[in-house]
Amino acid sequence: MSRAGADRERNSVATGDGVANGDVAAQRLATLRANLAAQGADALLVTTPANVRYLSDFTSPDDASVLVLPSSALLISDGRYGAQAQQESSIPFEIVGDAFLAVAEHARGLKLAVEGDDLTLQRFKQLSARLGYEPVVTEGLFTPLRLVKSPPEIALLREAARITDLAFEAALRMMAPGVLEVEVALELERAMRLAGADGSAFEIIVASGVRGAMPHGVASQKPLAAGELVTLDFGAVVGGYHADMTRTVAVGAVGAEERRLYEAVLEAQVAALAAVAPGKSGRELDAVARDILAEHDLADHFVHSLGHGTGLVIHEGPRLSNKSDDVLASGMTVTVEPGVYLPGFTGLRIEDLAVVTADGHEVLSLSSKELIVLAA
Ligand code: ZN
Ligand code: ZN
Repeated sequence: MSRAGADRERNSVATGDGVANGDVAAQRLATLRANLAAQGADALLVTTPANVRYLSDFTSPDDASVLVLPSSALLISDGRYGAQAQQESSIPFEIVGDAFLAVAEHARGLKLAVEGDDLTLQRFKQLSARLGYEPVVTEGLFTPLRLVKSPPEIALLREAARITDLAFEAALRMMAPGVLEVEVALELERAMRLAGADGSAFEIIVASGVRGAMPHGVASQKPLAAGELVTLDFGAVVGGYHADMTRTVAVGAVGAEERRLYEAVLEAQVAALAAVAPGKSGRELDAVARDILAEHDLADHFVHSLGHGTGLVIHEGPRLSNKSDDVLASGMTVTVEPGVYLPGFTGLRIEDLAVVTADGHEVLSLSSKELIVLAA
């Protein structure tokens, strides 16, 4: 075990620049232990990478786990990560050859639980063999915790959104007829990495002209052409936190129908975003956008839900959809992203990332939403 890590845990002092340090980490563990007790367990093996990072600040959570014990928590990883764990982990760590054996030793005499929404059946069997019993299978233990972001988490999202805005400006400078969609995606990624992002939050969508009718049209070899709308959906990751923004721009003058579609989606987006506040349900907010698009006879073309939370993963709660009973509270993040898709013609979407505040919301995406017409 790391001495430095042990001291940090004992003293609960914020020593690093991660977000799980100090009082925040202690609060998270206390909440988890209470939820765990309600399920009849007193220890938890955390294997979902985002949850491992959430509790430890360790940036290679795919190759680690966290064992939550009644009065301590331990990051467990292998020989490749000793130096990195020493540098990053906000909780004590152990480097072992057989993680499940170490877990069984630490959890002796306790009733262990696992994350059923992550552990494969094969690993469940291996762990059960080490323990000599089948662990309690839990589900969604972290969901209520991760829904509401702490100020340090929001600061990372704000920085991720700022870098996302910068990348949009960089893309606008090089977009022109003949430029390939994939070149636009590479420029977005290049700009985000150079500005300090860990990477891209997801595979970048650049969908021009008829390809715009595919909501998830990842960048292809298609060249941009004059008279087309181009949808860019992308985001930076900073400190593990994912931004998400969509803008649709025109390459040269577009037709009256494209402009009509753009104005309708913008009206729906602005209205739904304005309605984001504590106490609003995902269903209510989705309806704000859907009703406006219906007034423009476009309801059938809005083929996805309004938005989602983001954080350590790109899509997390709360969900904003016509089936969602999630209710917004201060500290939650949401995207607001209505779009319309007309197969064989065109499509577009406009998306902002916002944080719910005590009396409304703060928009993190600051790029202009007026239709930008590039020179062609
Ligand atoms: Zn997006
Ligand atoms: Zn999104």
